[in-house]
Amino acid sequence: MDSIKRARQDILETGLKMLERGLITATWGNISCRIEGKELIAITPSGMEYDKITEEDIVVLDMQGSVVLGQRKPSIEVPLHLALYKGREDIGAVVHTHSTFATALACAHKHIAPIVEELVQVVGGDVRVARYALPGSDLLASNVLAALRDRQAALMANHGVVGVAKTLEEALKVCEIVEKGAMITVFCNMVGQPIPISFEDVQAMRKSYTNEYGQK
Ligand code: 13P
Ligand code: ZN
Repeated sequence: MDSIKRARQDILETGLKMLERGLITATWGNISCRIEGKELIAITPSGMEYDKITEEDIVVLDMQGSVVLGQRKPSIEVPLHLALYKGREDIGAVVHTHSTFATALACAHKHIAPIVEELVQVVGGDVRVARYALPGSDLLASNVLAALRDRQAALMANHGVVGVAKTLEEALKVCEIVEKGAMITVFCNMVGQPIPISFEDVQAMRKSYTNEYGQK
């Protein structure tokens, strides 16, 4: 299978999982990935339902944002996705969700403190809140890039979540764990004071997750 077809199929599969796992409602959120061996990205179309789109609906863009393949209008968040790929060589995939608990914290402009182990393992520390800017704007793109420094996820003020990783599978996992971390943060505040994990322990867990965890 060629790399464009594979990227389009991976995005379709990730969209269905994002929908099934309750990370978005209706057509919001968006997904992209780099296309292996080419200076191109594939991205979801704007405002289309994840359980209705087909391979041809996934739009292929060059790094300037020009459409190379596909008839659909790409996501309004193309500036955000392109800014992340241009700003961080390590990013191969971007998943943007509007999951409920994470968005609740984002609406209060509250970060997710480093209180949960798997959260700090996959994100690399707390989940910062990117300053508010309108959806689809260049300012939103630069605010999110800044909030993502040394991290794999950020909250977007009054909006949602961005998870980044080498692969779509990992970027989706980041978004799921951010949502779980946000839910725990809300519940933890109801029963007591959240106790952050120390910086040294966060660094140690991030390192062992990246280099040793699982079947490596
Ligand atoms: P698109 O449907 O254009 O991707 O927009 C949804 C969204 O979440 C904007 O931030
Ligand atoms: Zn959005």
